[in-house]
Order: sequence, then structure tokens, then C-alpha cells
Amino acid sequence: EPQVARDDVIKGTDDDAIISKLYAAQSAVNLGYLDDPFVKHFVKRPSRRPPLINRGSYLRTRSLDTFTEQFIKSDITQSSTTTATAPASATTLSASTPTSTTTATTTTPAAAAGIKKQIVSLGCGSDTRYFKFKAKGLSAHKYFEIDFPESTAKKAVVIKKNKAFTDIIGDPDLKLGLGGTELYSKDYCLLSGDLRDFTESIVPKLNAQGFDTSLPTLFLSECVLIYIQPGDSDAIVNWVGTNMDASLFVVYEQINPADAFGAMMLRNLRTRQIELPGIHAYPSLKSQEERFTSRGWQAAHAVNMNKLHESLSEQEMKRISSLEIFDEVEEWQLLADHYCVAWAYQAKPRQSELHRAQ
Ligand code: SAM
Repeated sequence: EPQVARDDVIKGTDDDAIISKLYAAQSAVNLGYLDDPFVKHFVKRPSRRPPLINRGSYLRTRSLDTFTEQFIKSDITQSSTTTATAPASATTLSASTPTSTTTATTTTPAAAAGIKKQIVSLGCGSDTRYFKFKAKGLSAHKYFEIDFPESTAKKAVVIKKNKAFTDIIGDPDLKLGLGGTELYSKDYCLLSGDLRDFTESIVPKLNAQGFDTSLPTLFLSECVLIYIQPGDSDAIVNWVGTNMDASLFVVYEQINPADAFGAMMLRNLRTRQIELPGIHAYPSLKSQEERFTSRGWQAAHAVNMNKLHESLSEQEMKRISSLEIFDEVEEWQLLADHYCVAWAYQAKPRQSELHRAQ
């Protein structure tokens, strides 16, 4: 039936993403845009990608990595407002900082150091971020990954049978569950489900694995929300905004469907039977910000990939430029204009602030 067929195509989009990342990541052997020793385990047949795609995969990964690193290291937890824009400014460098609306509180770095945090990766596919970060000594109290059961089953097998992964998880009680579609450990959980059923089916699964709405939480959606109907992605944004005490939500996806390049992009995807229902609801940087601010989030900001590209340091630009010949500059700028990173921050006033306000 058509819905199932469409879902199969969407599940297949991960193969594409991971092959590009692998190619961009095979550092020592190959190009060296990214450093990721884990990604190779997920790719059976690596294939060459053009420089333009490598640069895109690199920027996409690097920008979400930067948010993740900042989130893990920051004291976002201690202040509902002053730190709201910290990850933002560091990621894009030139991006302006959105103004926040609630009262600022002072941060206490000492207290912040031991604060527990959670990360939830929505539509994780074969993403390796948990492993990359923990290998570098950067981890959250809990890291949850969610995808369709067909995707998580494949990922669970690869993780379970590879010492490279189980060593990083480092939990002798690492368990497979739900017919091999889920993995549970102390700090890493791979969960299966349909994001279109977030409140009813995903939230209870998170809760059963120790998810805590009072902990500061980073939600990552890397090329995921765009594939589901806006009503369903809005439900996720709403739930997070309403139920979490403090959260940072980072979205990476396509924008600008209406210009010539955007129309071509959609046509090309359609020939592979891929639709992007989300792009019509959130076609611009402004609407990407409003997807959060109109639902009560305190601060939101979106930038396109050209802006992120420009914000690379001179040294890093030199490094990636030396990796391979890159002369498709105009084509790159067009492409980069059609991808964005949007992030939003939301925190409830802390109990002590409520008392002070009364
Ligand atoms: N986030 C990963 C990355 O960037 O490498 C994977 C991106 S891939 C383009 C999109 C992923 O979202 C796929 O793994 C797909 O199965 C997942 N996905 C899409 N719709 C979903 C849904 N309704 N429920 C669960 N997962 C979904």
C-alpha cells in the first residue's frame, strides 16, 4: 500500500547520507574532511561523491557536532536565558543573537560542571555522533536514538557485533530488545518507532529508559522532520517545548523550494519517489525560526549553509580547500542556499525564580 511504499523510500534516505559521510570521513585513507572511525562499519559499498557533496556533508556534520559539543560543555543548565544563545553564536560566528524574553539569572559554573544532560537524536539513521563524542571523552548522562524498526535493527546488529562500538558503550549489560530492534545500556539507548506517533508511542519508550524531562536536553533532527507532515513535526516541537524544563532543538534540513534550484531539487527527489512535505510548511529561514517561536520557544535562529561556510576560520577553510580541487563555487553557493540549520531554546523559569517573582 502507498504509505508503506513511501516509508520504505524514506528509510532508504539514510543510506545516501551515510555513504556521503563515509566518503567525506575516510580521513587517513581518503579525503580527510571529517574524522570518524565509526562510519565505515555502516557502509557496504562506498562510492565516490563530488567535491560539492563532500563539502556539504562536512559542513552539515561539523555544524551539528559543534552544537553537540557546546551543549555537552556548556552550563546551559544553570541559566534560563543568558546561555540561550551561547551555542548559537559559537556555531555560526557571524550570526546575530536572538534576544531573550525572560529574566536573566546568574550562572554558577561550579554547579554546572556536574549537571546531567540528555541528547535525543530523532531519525538517527546510521549516525555515529554518540560514539565519536564518547571516544573523545564527551558524553551525556543519556543519549537516545530513535528511528524506524527496520533502520534500528540494522544499526543494532552492527553495534552489537563490533568491539569498536561495544567498547565505547562500555556497559557489560548492553542488551538487545524488542526483536533486535532496540539496544539498551547505561548511557546509550537505540529505540524503534515512528516519529509521527511521538507523544503516544515514542515518549513512553523514552520514559521506560530513564528519560527525565527535568534534565537539560538536546534534540537533534538532521534531515528528518522534512520527511514527515508538518502536523506531525509540529507535535514534536510542541511536546518538547511544553514538557521539557530546558531544551535546545537543532534542525538541519532543506529550504527554498520555490526558486529554480529548489524546484530542480524537488524534481530530482521525486524521481526517486522522495517527497519533502516539511519544506512547504517551513520554506525559509524565517519560517524555520517561527516553527519554534510561534509555539512558545524563547529564542530561535536559522542560517543557511552559505553563512556557515563563510563562518569557517581561515585556517579550517585552507585545510578543507587543500583536500581536493573545488571549482564548482557557483553551484556550491546555490546548493548551500537550500540547506539550513535552525536552533531554538526553551527553558521554564526555575523554582527559585518563580519564588522571587512572586
Ligand atoms: N539523521 C541521520 C543523519 O543525518 O545521518 C539520518 C538521516 S536520513 C536522511 C533520515 C532518517 O529519518 C532515516 O533514517 C529515516 O528512517 C528516519 N525517519 C524518517 N521518518 C521517520 C519516522 N516517521 N519515524 C522514524 N524515523 C524516521
